[in-house]
Amino acid sequence: MRSHLLNDLTAEHYRRSVTEGVERVAARLATTERPFTGVTVDALAPRVERIDLDRPLHDTTAALDELEEIYLRDAVYFHHPRYLAHLNCPVVIPAVLGEAVLSAVNSSLDTWDQSAGGTLIERRLIDWTTARIGLGPAADGVFTSGGTQSNLQALLLAREESKPGRAAWEEGASLASLRILASEVSHFSVKKSAKLLGLGQDAVIPVPVDQDKRMRTVALAHELERCRQDGLTPMAVVATAGTTDFGSIDPLPEIAELCARYGVWLHVDAAYGCGLLASVRHRDRLAGIERADSVTVDYHKSFFQPVSSSAVLVRDAATLRHATYHAEYLNPRRMVEERIPNQVDKSLQTTRRFDALKLWLTLRTMGADGIGELFDEVCDLAREGWRLLAADPRFDVVVEPALSTLVFRYIPAAVTGPDRIDRANLYARKALFASGDAVVAGTKVGGRHFLKFTLLNPETTAADIAAVLDLIAGHAEQYLGESLDRAS
Ligand SMILES: *Cc1c(COP(=O)(O)O)cnc(C)c1O
Repeated sequence: MRSHLLNDLTAEHYRRSVTEGVERVAARLATTERPFTGVTVDALAPRVERIDLDRPLHDTTAALDELEEIYLRDAVYFHHPRYLAHLNCPVVIPAVLGEAVLSAVNSSLDTWDQSAGGTLIERRLIDWTTARIGLGPAADGVFTSGGTQSNLQALLLAREESKPGRAAWEEGASLASLRILASEVSHFSVKKSAKLLGLGQDAVIPVPVDQDKRMRTVALAHELERCRQDGLTPMAVVATAGTTDFGSIDPLPEIAELCARYGVWLHVDAAYGCGLLASVRHRDRLAGIERADSVTVDYHKSFFQPVSSSAVLVRDAATLRHATYHAEYLNPRRMVEERIPNQVDKSLQTTRRFDALKLWLTLRTMGADGIGELFDEVCDLAREGWRLLAADPRFDVVVEPALSTLVFRYIPAAVTGPDRIDRANLYARKALFASGDAVVAGTKVGGRHFLKFTLLNPETTAADIAAVLDLIAGHAEQYLGESLDRAS
């Protein structure tokens, strides 16, 4: 069994195994004709269930053959130009290379004595990111598992920096007066964070958005004032720079102004919009982000990095102390005096992947402009898609995209009830998924079912978009035709 341990004696086995795995994936990528095979849970689950985990195959090739059957053949492939669904990007090769290196060396970024150079590389990338944001000389941050964790950590710091948060910590006072203000289309992880942070059910106040799905600052001012009058403490305003559905960017300068006036922590959730930090042409769309107290970025969304790769950044490094605990066995207090950098002092996690390496190799190979160019391309594509949709009487499109999503729905030519239109759109999405020809997402707008393209693949063309729209219309029409037959 020791032949499976990766060490000096097994370098050749390592090389062969990994190469065999890489060959399988490469062959799969080269022959994938659709983003998905359309396999159903009922068809796939028994194949996974059947495998006896207590009877190993003792053979890499056999294990990979088996994996083809239960995973590789039927996986959902984000690199395919007709995968248009969620915020998953195709990945860049330097980052995949980084993934292979980091898991083999297996550094853990909690302490210097488990990572050495890994810690320094992560710190450089944090500094690089805070400089791009413009957070100033005292800024810092840490890599996280994703935007959800980044938002949670940012809001933890915001809570601890608030007066009731401090009183709760020091004297066990109640957190009931704390409020978070976020737009009604902000990410659901804000609510989840509020729950984890011990805030009440009403802690997150949804702020209305304008017709472009951006937070209405007049409404925000109104809510801040109302909190003051009701004796409540707004602990943070969460501005979204790239909402998950619409890509809309809240008016950051105006929001920052209000936060300054009311002395409220400003968190900018740029999980999606962070790609603009690398864009030469569109960086200005993030203007105002430099005034944030904390920022969430997901490199695994708009920097073309494999999952996971994310970070939380803060204006004032000292605020990260709210996540600091010392353990004699890991990061004793004296190490701080000895200036030994232990990233665990800033993180919610302990053992932690060296995800930063992927971004490092990406920047060292392609450069930031290269990433920005790719993101610009998908934003341009979304504009083109919007023009197609706006000119097509079969579809209703919600907003002109600020980033790279399109939210729309099929509308039949013949007058029919709104519930039937809903069902036709739901059906079209399902039928498309089952066919595997394309994968699209869905969401609700004003209580109605809509479809969504999230464009993150520069290989997707306007022709792909047009073709998928035809497929959607075809499925929706088929549903309406059939349901009419049934009704008559
Ligand atoms: C995706 C997303 C998140 C959550 O990020 P994960 O990496 O999926 O945890 C948070 N905020 C916004 C705006 C997002 O789009």
